Amino acid sequence: MHNTDYEKTSTNTVTESSENQMRKEENTLPNSVLRRHNQAQKSEAEGGVEKAQAQGKSTQMSDTEVMMEFQKLCSPGDPELIYDRNKELGSGASGTVFIAREKATGQRVAVKDINLEKQHKKEAILTEVNLMKNLQHKNLVNFLDLFLQNDHLWVIMELLDGGPLTDVVTQTVMKEPQIAAVCSQALQGIAYLHDNGIIHRDIKSDNVLLGKDGSVKLTDFGFSAVLTGDEKRQTMIGTPYWMAPEVVHRKYYGPKIDIWSLGIMAIEMIEGEPPYLNETPLRALYLIASKGKPDIESQEELSQEFQEFLDCCLEVDVEKRATATELLSHRFLTKAVSTATLKPHIEAAQKILGKNIH
Ligand code: ATP
Ligand code: MG
Repeated sequence: MHNTDYEKTSTNTVTESSENQMRKEENTLPNSVLRRHNQAQKSEAEGGVEKAQAQGKSTQMSDTEVMMEFQKLCSPGDPELIYDRNKELGSGASGTVFIAREKATGQRVAVKDINLEKQHKKEAILTEVNLMKNLQHKNLVNFLDLFLQNDHLWVIMELLDGGPLTDVVTQTVMKEPQIAAVCSQALQGIAYLHDNGIIHRDIKSDNVLLGKDGSVKLTDFGFSAVLTGDEKRQTMIGTPYWMAPEVVHRKYYGPKIDIWSLGIMAIEMIEGEPPYLNETPLRALYLIASKGKPDIESQEELSQEFQEFLDCCLEVDVEKRATATELLSHRFLTKAVSTATLKPHIEAAQKILGKNIH
């Protein structure tokens, strides 16, 4: 593990497909098309497993209505006059992310450029943008501004120049106090989301972005759904390897699915990858559903506190699984050091991956 030529396999996102459909897809999706961080391959894989987004109970809006909603949310003005757009950071399902500099202040930001013309799910994007706009927390990638220009939506966000946590877990070895620190920061973000009735639903190292100073922030609320009252959601959304058993079983589930995923992310920080990553997504789902808490190879080497923390996250019985608030006072987190200690890890990972963000 942690070697530089290490290659991860899939994080293909599974949405509301039925088990039968997934069984079929198992044969049509070779591992090579499911490799991580390869957008071309990723979209190929998504051809079969549609990337959808839960829309709650709302009835569908027409394109014109959605565009009018976007217009209401956007700041006036031409973003190209306000920002200098520089290097591309990468692209995902909804758009391309660039580094930009606000001309007036010199502040560096990240811009997600979404070509709305190409989007079938404009309403889903509206949901994501609306969510981001209303949430502000030190452990979330905060939304700064929004512009609409010729059917392109410019989402201005804080720039996290340290890259995703995935780079650090795959390229370097983290110590327990650092893992405790990242868990503590991520949990503060998760607790804030849960307090606001939001389940993230895609907690994993790829969706934890780091600042070069060591700041730790959750991103990609694209799959989030706002919960009203006690309503629980029943759609299968998330990334297979991080999915909680109750999601795999398609039982009703609530915010605690994020706690299970956090436990899987803690395993990524120990072992460099989530359990069953070498298995096909379907087999991984089967193993999650049948095995319960996954085995951790280096379990014996972990401190008692850490093992207890993992037990609290990876508890199959949802009632018994801890809440974000409960976990924030878990004794494992008292081990946390400053996340500034991640700096050398971030630098090493960026060097290996040739990814330095200036
Ligand atoms: P998905 O469509 O599943 O979200 P993705 O996360 O790869 O896929 P984007 O969210 O569009 O796609 O992000 C593209 C790239 O830009 C990713 O590598 C991501 O880590 C990076 N990125 C996104 N937001 C920021 C940000 N605020 N600061 C720095 N890098 C970012
Ligand atoms: Mg993303």
